[in-house]
Amino acid sequence: MSERNNEVLLNVEHLKMYFPITKGLVIQRTVGYVKAVDDISLFIRKGETLGLVGESGCGKSTTGRAILQLYKPTAGHVYFREDGKMVDLTTLKRRELQPMRRRMQIIFQDPYASLNPRMTVGGIVGEPLEVHHIASGKEKLERVKELLDLVGLNPYFINRYPHEFSGGQRQRIGVARALAINPEFIVCDEPISALDVSIQAQIINLLEGLQERLGLTYLFIAHDLAVVRHISDRVAVMYLGKLVETADRDELYEHPLHPYTQALLSAAPIPDPVIEEKRQRIILEGDVPTPINPPKGCNFSTRCPRVMDVCREVEPEMKEVAPGHWVACHLFD
Ligand code: SF4
Repeated sequence: MSERNNEVLLNVEHLKMYFPITKGLVIQRTVGYVKAVDDISLFIRKGETLGLVGESGCGKSTTGRAILQLYKPTAGHVYFREDGKMVDLTTLKRRELQPMRRRMQIIFQDPYASLNPRMTVGGIVGEPLEVHHIASGKEKLERVKELLDLVGLNPYFINRYPHEFSGGQRQRIGVARALAINPEFIVCDEPISALDVSIQAQIINLLEGLQERLGLTYLFIAHDLAVVRHISDRVAVMYLGKLVETADRDELYEHPLHPYTQALLSAAPIPDPVIEEKRQRIILEGDVPTPINPPKGCNFSTRCPRVMDVCREVEPEMKEVAPGHWVACHLFD
């Protein structure tokens, strides 16, 4: 676990990412929007890990990409600390964004799909060094070897191709590539979901070790709460484009307040057989509604076991119900 530091590195305010739905072959008209991220605010302190959890399709990967400005947000602000000031990335021109991009990287879910199969490991890991004009030639080669060693791969593998590696090793290559330009902040987008269970812990341990050694800050995206428990300092739970609950890791696991968080937690097996036997699962009825037309009021109202009349009319606001514990639910009005 990372050492706590109170300085905020990243502050996201009212972020929205809507994708237009168009109709018409010649003249395209916008007929609606997919509201993938719908007004979320969060912060991440320097050196900490914020776990972002929710079912697939809830908008968590889009949030990660919009923070990194890989998508241009529809609305909202993304402030990143630069020389003691908070700089709004959403207002920067492409040229101004370039030096900031060096400080932020992403590790993808599927290490195989994200690595160019026709490039050697040396080419893949060294590419960002060339793109950002950091190193070339012999210097680049030395840096790549250093990076392979850092992620637990033999530098001797530098001329091999991605298909010659196992899934876990390929994810290590993805991590080495992300680290090449010395970033401070990394979005880990479901980095272990595509891996065999037996090697998931190895990658988590690697990411934790690197965080400690290099002082990294992570946004760790996952679809199940059990995975983020080990690595996160704080956890944010997302449902249908919105954050529903945010708290320190232990507080969230011991006192989950939002009915959706409670349902997610009840689905996670507990390693202790005595407690596991008593575990009561909350089964959610129905499917996640479409983000094109989310329900009126609370967007969880169509599936919530504790729904009230007010929930179908009024959208609940995020409120701090205990120090650092935020929840958006009318049960806490
Ligand atoms: Fe359930 Fe209402 Fe709370 Fe939404 S606001 S989570 S519907 S109780």
